[in-house]
Amino acid sequence: MQYDVVIVGAGPVGATAARYAALNGASVLLIEEHSSVGSPVECTGLLSTRAISECDVKPTNDFVLNSVKGAHIYSPNGICLPIDGGKTKAYVVSRKIFDRKLVDMAVDAGVDVSIKTRAVGLNRNDGRQELSVLQNGVPKIISANVIIGADGVRSNVARMAGLGQVRMVLSGIQIEAKYSSNNADFVELFMGSQAPGFFAWTVPLNEKVSRIGLAVSTGNKMHAVQYLNDLLNSGKGVAKRYGGGILDLVYGGIPLGPLEKTVADGVLIAGDAAGQVKPTSGGGIYTGAVCAKIAGEVAASAAIEKNTSEDRLNEYEKRWRAKLGRELNIGMKIHEFMGGLSDNELDELLDSINTPIILDLITEYGDMDHPSILIKKLLSPTNSWQMVNVLRAFAKVLL
Ligand SMILES: Cc1cc2nc3c(=O)[nH]c(=O)nc-3n(C[C@H](O)[C@H](O)[C@H](O)COP(=O)(O)OP(=O)(O)OC[C@H]3O[C@@H](n4cnc5c(N)ncnc54)[C@H](O)[C@@H]3O)c2cc1C
Repeated sequence: MQYDVVIVGAGPVGATAARYAALNGASVLLIEEHSSVGSPVECTGLLSTRAISECDVKPTNDFVLNSVKGAHIYSPNGICLPIDGGKTKAYVVSRKIFDRKLVDMAVDAGVDVSIKTRAVGLNRNDGRQELSVLQNGVPKIISANVIIGADGVRSNVARMAGLGQVRMVLSGIQIEAKYSSNNADFVELFMGSQAPGFFAWTVPLNEKVSRIGLAVSTGNKMHAVQYLNDLLNSGKGVAKRYGGGILDLVYGGIPLGPLEKTVADGVLIAGDAAGQVKPTSGGGIYTGAVCAKIAGEVAASAAIEKNTSEDRLNEYEKRWRAKLGRELNIGMKIHEFMGGLSDNELDELLDSINTPIILDLITEYGDMDHPSILIKKLLSPTNSWQMVNVLRAFAKVLL
C-alpha cells in the first residue's frame, strides 16, 4: 500500500486533515484502530457554532440533540453567574454521528478508509515513511510520503516520531442520566474542590436528561470517579436534581499544553495528539479542526513536491501557532490561575464578577473559542475600575 499521505486516527481531526489533504491533490489513506468510526465516545459533545462551521458542516437534526444559549457558572458556595448569550451559542451533539459525517465527507473527497487498523511502528526510509500496522490483527507495512498523527491524547505517532508528550492530561468522566434542568438552554459549570484543577458540568440534552461530568488534574487525593460519586451523592447542588438511571458512561483524558514541536521529518501531529485543546474548557474540536485543515494542506503539497523534510513541514507549525498559539498560551495561564485558587478565593472572585456591568461585558465579548477577547476587554482602562478585585488576583499570575 502506497499513499502520498496517511492519517492515523479517524476522529474529527483525522477525518478533517484527510479531507483537506485529498482536496489538495494527494492520494490519502485514513486508518482507525477501532472497528467502528466514532466509537467509543470520549466527549460531552458541546460544540460552539464556530466549531461546527470550522468543520464545514451545517448543524442538522441528524446529529444535533439540543442547542444552548449560555452558561450558569456556580462558585463553591453556590453563587451563580448567569451568562446569557441571547441566541444559540453552542450545540449538544451526538459525537458518534458527527464523527461519521466527517469521515463520510472525507470519503466523498477521495480518501480511502481502513478500520480495525492500528499503527504500531514507524520508520523513515529513503525519504518515505514506513508505517507498520496491524490490520485485523495481521501485520502490514503502509508506505507514505507524509504521516499525520491524529491519534488522540495518548498519541503513539508523536512518541514514535520522537516528539514527546503533551504537558499535562486531565482525567475526565461523564455520565448521561436523568437530571431536572432548571433551563435546558443553559449548561451549568461548577467550580472548586468538587473538581480540583478543572470543573464539573451538566450539559442538557433536554429538560429531563443531561450529560453530567467533571475533569480533575492528576495528583489529587481521589480518582475522578470518586469526585463524580461525591458530586452525585452530596445532597446539594447537582445531587438535588440528579435522578439516577445512568444511560451512558464516558472516561477520557484531556490534554493541555501543546507539544513543543509538532513536526518531524515526514510527520505532522494534530488535534489532541498535539495538545491543541482549549485549556479553559477542555474543548478540542474547534482548535483541532483549525489545525487539521492546515496539516492536510501542508502534508499534501509537501508530499506532491516530494520534499517532506522537517524544514518543509515546519510551515504547518508556523501557521497553526500563528492562528492559535497565543490563545492557547493565555488559556493555559487562566487555567493555572483558576486551578490555584481555594474555594474561598473562587467565591470571592465570582462574587466580584457578579455585577451587571461585568456580566454585560461577558455576555457581549465572551467567546468559548477565544477567551482572550474577553480578557482584553475586561483589562482595558475603561473597564478596569469595575474589576479592581479581580485584577488584583489576575495580576499575580499574568504580570
Ligand atoms: C470527558 C470529555 C469531554 C469532552 N467534551 C468536549 C466537548 O464538549 N467539546 C469539545 O470540543 N471537546 C470535548 N472534549 C475533547 C474532544 O473529545 C477532543 O478534543 C477531540 O475528540 C479530539 O479529536 P481528535 O480527532 O484529535 O482525537 P480523537 O477524537 O481522540 O480521535 C483519535 C482517533 O485515533 C484513533 N487511534 C488512536 N491510536 C491509534 C492507532 N495507533 N492506530 C489507529 N488509530 C488510532 C482512536 O481510536 C480515535 O478514533 C472532551 C474530552 C473528554 C475526555
